[in-house]
Parts: sequence; C-alpha cells; structure tokens
Amino acid sequence: MPTEPETDYDPDLGRKFIFVTGGVMSGLGKGITAASTGRLLKNAGFDVTAVKIDPYLNVDAGTMNPFQHGEVYVLKDGGEVDLDLGNYERFLDIDMTFDHNITTGKTYQHVIEKERAGDYLGRTVQIIPHITDDIKRRIREAAEGNDVCIIEVGGTVGDIEGMPYLEALRQFAHEEDEDDILFTHVTLVPYSKNGEQKTKPTQHSVKELRSIGLQPDVLVGRCSDKLDIDTREKIALFCDVPTEAVFSNPDVDDIYHVPLMVEEEGLDEYVMERLDIGDEALPEDERENRWRDLVTQQTDGEVEVALVGKYDLEDAYMSVHEALKHAGLEKNVDVNVRWVNSEKMGDHHAERMRDADAIVVPGGFGTRGTEGKIEAIRYARENGVPYLGLCLGFQLAVIEYARNVLDLTGAHSTELDEDTPHPVIDILPEQYEIEDMGGTMRLGANETEIEAGTLAATLYGGESCTERHRHRYEVNPEYIDDLEAAGLKFSGRSGNRMEILELASDDHPYFIGTQFHPEFRSRPTRASPPFVGLLEAVVGDDPHTVETEEVSH
Ligand code: GLN
Repeated sequence: MPTEPETDYDPDLGRKFIFVTGGVMSGLGKGITAASTGRLLKNAGFDVTAVKIDPYLNVDAGTMNPFQHGEVYVLKDGGEVDLDLGNYERFLDIDMTFDHNITTGKTYQHVIEKERAGDYLGRTVQIIPHITDDIKRRIREAAEGNDVCIIEVGGTVGDIEGMPYLEALRQFAHEEDEDDILFTHVTLVPYSKNGEQKTKPTQHSVKELRSIGLQPDVLVGRCSDKLDIDTREKIALFCDVPTEAVFSNPDVDDIYHVPLMVEEEGLDEYVMERLDIGDEALPEDERENRWRDLVTQQTDGEVEVALVGKYDLEDAYMSVHEALKHAGLEKNVDVNVRWVNSEKMGDHHAERMRDADAIVVPGGFGTRGTEGKIEAIRYARENGVPYLGLCLGFQLAVIEYARNVLDLTGAHSTELDEDTPHPVIDILPEQYEIEDMGGTMRLGANETEIEAGTLAATLYGGESCTERHRHRYEVNPEYIDDLEAAGLKFSGRSGNRMEILELASDDHPYFIGTQFHPEFRSRPTRASPPFVGLLEAVVGDDPHTVETEEVSH
C-alpha cells in the first residue's frame, strides 16, 4: 500500500475547493456531475484535481466484491480505489494517487497508529478534532499544486458514516476564505403520478444538511427532464439559494455528454463566478474543445464486442467498457459490448459470443466461470476472431495454448487448481510469504520492455510501455521456452516476468494478451493501444502495420 506523506500546508496558496454532497439516495451520478464540472474548468484553463471520500470502514476498495461496488480501480501508485476515481481520471485526464481517495478505514488507521506511537500523549483522542483534522489535512494535501479541487463525499447526507466528514467540511469552510469554498448538493427531483416535479425530497435533504451547519451554494436536481422554472424557484425559496443557483441534470444516454449539458445549463460559469476565478478563465473561443468534438463526432459503423466474464454488471468491468468506447472514438465507430456469461457457455451465451466481431476476456479472480473463458479463447484463436485478454484473460490464454497446442492436459494456474500437473501460471515468488489480502498484490504502474518488430511494438509505437498491474500470479518461467517454440510469443517483458503475449500475424489477425490492465490508463482523448488494435482488426486495418501516431504510452 502506498505510504502516506504528511506535509505542512500553506494556507496562502489560494486554492479553490468545491464540495459535492448527495441527497435523497445514492446512485444519482454526483461523481459524473462533479467530474463534468471539473472538465469544463479544465477546458477554461484551470488545473483541476479531485478527491473521493468513501465513508466505509475498509482501508481501500481492494478487498471488496465487484458485484457490490463495481470494479476496483487501480491507480499508478498501486492504490486500489473506488471506480469513481476512474471517472475523475478519464474526465479530467489526470493521474491521481492513493491520497485522492479518503476512507474511514484509512483515516482511523492513521490516527490510531499515531496514538500508539505516542503522538497525542496525555490527550484523549476523539473524532473531533483528531479525525476531522486528519480529514482536512488529507483534502488540503491532495489539492496541492492545483487551482481547483473537487471533493465528492460518497453516500447520502444523513448516513452515520458520513457525519465526521460533513463536520470536517463545516470546519474547513470556516478556515478558508468564503470565496474559496463552494458547496454543491446533488439531489433527486422525482415526478408525481400526475407529472409534477416534486421538490420535497430536496427540501428535506437540504434541511438535513443545514441541521449539521452546512448551507449549499448550488443545488443540482437529477430528474429525467430539465427542471421547470417553477420547480427551480420553489427549490430556491425553500433551500435559501438564488434561482440561478438551481441547476438541472436531466438523463442523457451517454455520460460523456454530461459536460456539454452542464455547460448548456451554465453551471461552470456560475461556479467560476462564485469562486471569483471568472477573470482568470480563458475566453470562450480559446477554450479547449477536443472533448466536445470527440463525443459529438459522427460515427461510421458499429462493432460488436463480446465481453466474456462472470458478472452481469457493467460496473464490474467499467474501465474495460470505457476503454472500448475510447478506442471507438479514435476509430470513429460505435462499440456495442455484449456480456457473455462464462458460466453458461453451454446455452445461448456461446451463440452470442460467436456472433460478435471481437472477444475480450477481462481480469478476474477465482475458479468460477474460468473453463467458459478458456473455451472462448480457444474459439477466438482457432477461428481468427480478434482477441484481447486482460490480466486473467492473458493468463487463461497461456493455459489454453498449453492445453490445446502443447497438449499439456490439465495445464492450469495454481490459483485455480493447486494440484495441476502443469502449473503454467504460478504465484509470484515474492508472494510466497504473504498472508494478508489487503493491498498485497503486485500493484500499480510498472514498465514493460517491448521487443522491436512485434505487434505490441507497433501498437505502442515504441519499445516500452508503462501500465498498471493488479495480480498475484504470473507465467511460470519454466514453460516459457516451450510455449514460444510452439508459437506463443511473449513480446513484452519486465525482467523475466511475462507481460504481453501475441500470435504472429500469419497465424491470427489479432490475438494479444496483457498481464497488466491497459484499461486503467485509457482516456477519451487518448485511447489505449491494445484496445485500438482490437477495433482496427475488426474494421479492416491491419493492426500489425498501422502506424501509431504519437508515442504517448
Ligand atoms: N487472479 C489473477 C492473479 O491474481 C489475475 C488477476 C486479475 O485479473 N486482475 O494473478
């Protein structure tokens, strides 16, 4: 787990803080609203970063089940965090660190460690001020070096776990200048049976906020449509904000259109005005508009990608979905991802997979569904269907090759079958002694050396790449020579650790696997090379020869 720096905070740095809380219920997309506002501030020339507060007691998201919380997102420093941080990285095109995710587990662990070390000698250690001080310190440190920091408080106002955070924000607001702080509250505005937009849930939620000493400056109403002027006026009256401070956030089909909608509503201009930075913003005609151009471009065709996994939940593979979408933006095609249940390859799921243009097997843990994934990989390999394997999808490609090409019956990973006669995937040597599960995998960004003249070298446009990892197992070095002799090329390595595999272009149009997770570095404006290659293979360009434009990866 990354270490925690504790630096002195310079209060004269003049940073601006936007706090975002949520009311009524979770899942309103306040993170996307916040990230979209940040995108617009960035377009206007400001350096923007974000902090996500997760009030749960886990130290990090690493041990959580993707079925409950969605995917575990991995940062470059190896922090295992909530998937919302992925949205901030994608919308703001920044690399965040573990310090940008504040959890109750992390805060308490730190304060308790300090107590044990004697740092509070003689004093009673309490939520106020010790925990709240630690929360404020973390926010200030994460904001360091930026003009604006957006802080999203997870959960809903009124949750017990969230209380220390809201108290910390209350204190924070007193410690900073008034025009350096902005409180945004995102709530739900439902329709009544007779088609009326109802403001009562918003009123209650703001009342709850005010009872703990927080007055929102801006209210954003999530509704299937735009808020009517009457609705906005009513919210303004009851919640004590001007009508101009009440914004709509209607449903959109594509989350990448939310920044355009926020802009249309004028939320960004209002925020700049309230934070008194409007004068420093770039004039409108000089603002960055690459995002808008990309997400509104006319696409030319559709590509069907089968994602073979065990979770029937888009959030469980969010970054893979996003990376496919980014590759689609680059290749100018719409990408439809169809989930194929790897536990049900016997029935119509196998059929769904066969209909697709390309196959992706994403990361995963545990035995459930692995035989179905191996079957999918065999199908892709034998039938020339473009294939991309990510982490577990890379390891299973090795297993499939060992079993079906090298005839090593029962070849497996020792994670999935301890007694396999052919352990082609085995535990990383440095993991032998590790027993704790939290934050102990091989995590974060590591450099891979890429062999010249390979598909990987063409994709990455160079002889190295630095991508993020999250695994405990790897290709067993004892099998490498045999696998390569049989045609499975390891084109990317990190020392004697295998990082990228591929089949030669004579054998397959596009068959590649990565031990790392390229999806975590993919951005709308900077698609990930292995994903772009997958689509190139479908739309007819040969990814083995297409020149990569910039060597940014
Ligand atoms: N379970 C495998 C390992 O730990 C793959 C991990 C992954 O796909 N993220 O090595």
